[in-house]
Amino acid sequence: MKSRSFCACAVLVLAATGSIGANLAAAQGEPLTAREVIARIQVHVGIPWQQETVDTFKAGNPDAEVHGIAVTMMATLDVLQRAAAAGQNLIITHEPTFYNHLDKPDELEQKENDPVLAAKRAFIQEHNLVIWRFHDHWHRMRRDGIEAGMAHALDWEKFQDPGNQYLFVVPETDLEHLAAELKSRLRIHVIRVVGDPKLKVNKVALVPGSSGFAKETRALEMSGVQVLVTGESREWETVEYVADAVTEGKPKALIILGHIPSEQAGMEECARWLKTFVSEVPVEFVPAREPFWAPKE
Ligand SMILES: [Zn+2]
Repeated sequence: MKSRSFCACAVLVLAATGSIGANLAAAQGEPLTAREVIARIQVHVGIPWQQETVDTFKAGNPDAEVHGIAVTMMATLDVLQRAAAAGQNLIITHEPTFYNHLDKPDELEQKENDPVLAAKRAFIQEHNLVIWRFHDHWHRMRRDGIEAGMAHALDWEKFQDPGNQYLFVVPETDLEHLAAELKSRLRIHVIRVVGDPKLKVNKVALVPGSSGFAKETRALEMSGVQVLVTGESREWETVEYVADAVTEGKPKALIILGHIPSEQAGMEECARWLKTFVSEVPVEFVPAREPFWAPKE
């Protein structure tokens, strides 16, 4: 689902250069700035840094000294509060902070200082937080970091297709049991499923986050895939498409985990990765809370 045209040797060379830089800074006892942490990440991703990317600073002073790093799936206010209380002032978030992909909530700001947005910005300022987004490159690395973390959390690495990291051939089960297993392993409160609960499934496409109709349907049509597991999907696009496939008697199904649970473990993986080349300050994974709940039956 993405190109892999670069040479793996380049990764090793760049990684070695990065750790030399890191050791020098540490040896000289200089304070570590947010900008330096990000420069180190740019070296370690092992792919050329994109010109057009959302992986940029979103708030705070990049030259501020870092005391602790919080790695999270989504920089909700709740996550920021927990990070600030723990003394972490650099927040590395996979998803936006200010409610849209480019972190430019124009529509909200036209409402003249939207109160929710204003309170969040005030909290960030008061606690001198620096927020940086790590989305595009973490996905585009030779091994998609989100996919790797999710496969690890599910203990599905052994089922991963060697030729396509998004495809898994699991022991045959039915849709109902597969959904129950995902719900319990990822500790999700609200999970939604489209399809026949008794459908036999063994080929699963795991496409975390929100990838849109084209990618979602392509995944679903890939070499005998019966079920697409994703984060969030438009109900009048992919959900309707799968419902129609089911009505047509096709062996297809959709499991919607929710965006946060579908990528959360991928950022836990990111915290583990970051610790391999940032050792001067504590690095901690701060899980974002699942926003949904459902009434008991
Ligand atoms: Zn993502």
